[in-house]
Amino acid sequence: MTTMTTDSLTEAQQITLGQMVADAIDRREPGRRWCDDCQPAPAGLCQPCADDFDQADRYKALAAVLGVEVDDQ
Ligand SMILES: [Zn+2]
Repeated sequence: MTTMTTDSLTEAQQITLGQMVADAIDRREPGRRWCDDCQPAPAGLCQPCADDFDQADRYKALAAVLGVEVDDQ
């Protein structure tokens, strides 16, 4: 099994990777763009939005494993 690492990337590439993850999270996180089916609370998320939220969590978890700093605001 190959160990994942960003050690072979330049500092600039690591920063870009962090921005890439942040963009991906931003696209998935439903908190900023509730659809008409959603209530403004996590328990009220519709399934597609809940799936997006879970995917955003997976992006964050992967970034953490890789040691990538994500500017997640
Ligand atoms: Zn929704």
